[in-house]
Amino acid sequence: MAVMTRKKEQIGERIALFKAEVNRWAGRIGVEPKEVHVRSMKRKWASCSSAGRLTFDSAILRKPTSFRDQVVVHELLHLKVPNHGQLFRSLLRAHLGTNATEALQDTHRA
Ligand SMILES: [Zn+2]
Repeated sequence: MAVMTRKKEQIGERIALFKAEVNRWAGRIGVEPKEVHVRSMKRKWASCSSAGRLTFDSAILRKPTSFRDQVVVHELLHLKVPNHGQLFRSLLRAHLGTNATEALQDTHRA
């Protein structure tokens, strides 16, 4: 049991660090997500509700920072722009540079 508890603690720490990353990006982008959740999603990396609630797949915690940034920026931008139109793409490029094309494809993997 002691091992399980320790593992849970580590996961809690990772989630806290990840939420801090999300908040940092939110500040840069100029948005304020109402809530940020991390849970197992299976079908996609993240989703954004119209009420401003962001949910990220817990598998993202094991991905490299560059990948997490892509998904995080993508979802945060949806708080500004709900679609994937021209404005969304140019904002994505402005924040992620060359990673932007990948960010557009990966986040909504089905
Ligand atoms: Zn999207």
